Amino acid sequence: MRWSFKLGKIFGIDFRIHVTFFLLLFFVFISGLSQRGPEQAIRAVLFISAVFACVIIHELSHSLIARRFGKEAKSITLLPIGGVATMEEMPEKPGQEIAMSIVGPFINLLIAGLLYVLIGHWTGISVPNLYPESTREFFAGLIGVNIILAIFNLIPAFPMDGGRVLRGILGMRVDHVRATSMAVAIGQAFSLLFIFYGLFFNWWLILIGLFLYIGAGSEKQQVMLLAILRGVPASEIMATDFRSLRPNEPLSRSLEHIYHGCQEDFPVVGDRGIEGVLTRMGILSAIHEKGVEVPVSEVMDRNFPSIDLRTSLDQIYRKLQSAQKTCAAVLEGDQLKGMLCLDGISRYLMIQSAMRGIEAENIPVKS
Ligand SMILES: [Zn+2]
Repeated sequence: MRWSFKLGKIFGIDFRIHVTFFLLLFFVFISGLSQRGPEQAIRAVLFISAVFACVIIHELSHSLIARRFGKEAKSITLLPIGGVATMEEMPEKPGQEIAMSIVGPFINLLIAGLLYVLIGHWTGISVPNLYPESTREFFAGLIGVNIILAIFNLIPAFPMDGGRVLRGILGMRVDHVRATSMAVAIGQAFSLLFIFYGLFFNWWLILIGLFLYIGAGSEKQQVMLLAILRGVPASEIMATDFRSLRPNEPLSRSLEHIYHGCQEDFPVVGDRGIEGVLTRMGILSAIHEKGVEVPVSEVMDRNFPSIDLRTSLDQIYRKLQSAQKTCAAVLEGDQLKGMLCLDGISRYLMIQSAMRGIEAENIPVKS
């Protein structure tokens, strides 16, 4: 996510904080300082930090359950409106999705329960106050906020946890694409309600509503896109009519091919077979940094994704996305058979959507 930076790793998952989160802390501190004095300003910053520590534990619980199902979380990012766990892939089996989603709210209830057992006789439970006036009020509010977090997250507003549970339940009766469409429609209706309610009562809800509306839409696109790609082998759409470069050729050679043909990504083939891939982006940045006479071997990507001829397009798409690459070499054994790039997948999707009467902009591919 842009404007976020990595603080470290928790359980092997990148932990990132978005800069706007610090703006939130700063804003809370400054307004506390001017209205209530330094002690309460500091207590407010500590309170916000404690709430977000609970949010991190919540996100971590999603990620750890997903890991049990073999789905790895890439990062957890803290935003002013909450935490976001970025997964390489969401579980599609309804039971797994329900377990993974419901654990978050459950953890908040568990935190509230534990705090209540430990110190509840002293603090009680109260509606959270951003500027707690005492340590007692601080912890009473922290218990309260965990209960609110659990309930709020269970609202079936996809892609919030409750919405994912709903998709899981629907997914037991209908297929994944349909279950997603239904959950997204309900989720977007809820986010419009949040925005409407937020206009009158709480500006924060407007932000959350917008975030959910956009998030639900883009996840629906992703699910539709993967459904079209599923089961189609690489061999069906890979480029087989392509030029290769030799490792010792100058970069200018790739430009000749680009000018005279339509190809923009090249396999680099040496005596021992394919040694690297030179992509359009790679060529452009190499020209800028090293000029056109540099040998291809010096600027090619040696760490390119390679895939088997029979690999299905949805797996390839996920692989390219998670490796942040645009092109893969298609092999049979160690023989180069073709090239498959995001451009090619995008073209295939455009044609398929035209054939199925879906509007092309509903299924974009980032390339
Ligand atoms: Zn959650």
